[in-house]
Amino acid sequence: MALHEFDLIRRFFTGIGGAGPDIALGVGDDCALLDPPPGCQLAISTDTLVEGVHFPVACDPEALAGRALRVNLSDLAAMGAEPLGFQLALTLPSADEVWLAAFSRGLARDAGLFGCPLMGGDTTRGPLAITVTVIGTLPAGAALRRGGAGAGDLLYVTGTLGDARGALDVPGEAHLAARYWRPEPRLAAGRLLRQFASAALDVSDGLAQDAGHIAAASGLGCRIEADRLPLSAALVDACGRALASRHALTGGDDYELCFSVPPGKAEAMEAALAAAGEPVTRIGAMVPGAGVLCVDGQGEPITLERSGYAHF
Ligand code: ADP
Ligand code: MG
Repeated sequence: MALHEFDLIRRFFTGIGGAGPDIALGVGDDCALLDPPPGCQLAISTDTLVEGVHFPVACDPEALAGRALRVNLSDLAAMGAEPLGFQLALTLPSADEVWLAAFSRGLARDAGLFGCPLMGGDTTRGPLAITVTVIGTLPAGAALRRGGAGAGDLLYVTGTLGDARGALDVPGEAHLAARYWRPEPRLAAGRLLRQFASAALDVSDGLAQDAGHIAAASGLGCRIEADRLPLSAALVDACGRALASRHALTGGDDYELCFSVPPGKAEAMEAALAAAGEPVTRIGAMVPGAGVLCVDGQGEPITLERSGYAHF
């Protein structure tokens, strides 16, 4: 690399997202040092994005950086955690300064927006891949886990589903493209849901598959009413209602929260999230048994060729 590794880190990866109240030492030493607030647990999650697998070849580096951070922040949101900071392991085919400047700009913008500073990482040469590890905090014992749902709990999602998948069908549609490149980590919703939800996760591989994770971890089944699924007008216009609904069930890359709420807390939850400007929709319920049953408006089962994205 023409650009020395240490110059590269200093120029493009120092000061991203500011200082951070819980970070005693950031980029530059052998480790970062954290001072998490007393009584807090740390929530940690890693996601890797590989060129040609998780994002298109030769895409805009500024958008890519934002997406890499946002999909990780979505995991913190799903646990009800608040961002503390993140690590970045970057594998680059070359030290392209134009590419690095744009990537660094996109990263700084979203790290600042979500109050999640870059604390350290690793830089290596190879096929383009981006690994982000986010660290968040939450009051000890308050995390939203997948396994806490009870039979009869109501099942909800935030936002709208299927938009990112729709962007593959209609690449020129601006709203859908934005939903793929700039998913909204539902951090405020996740934080509020600590008071209400019995289980939660973020929908990354398709609702039908991911709702199945809540069901399995909770030792239950779940029933999803397909005609309740929240669809954006842009998705219905672009794909038609039938395909839009299919994308909402199995498309993936939504980064919305799916969560269960005991019936006695549902009204208070809906009021709290509405007051915070976080739209939620009830899509079904947890039921005795196992697996995910999707039904149409007549209550007839819908058969899906696939429930979501499979990596292997
Ligand atoms: P070491 O060889 O001790 O692992 P490195 O040379 O890999 O150290 O990294 C030097 C410093 O730069 C460390 O503080 C590390 O966290 C940081 N760093 C390396 N790559 C990145 C990156 N892509 N983004 C942020 N910090 C990085
Ligand atoms: Mg290293």
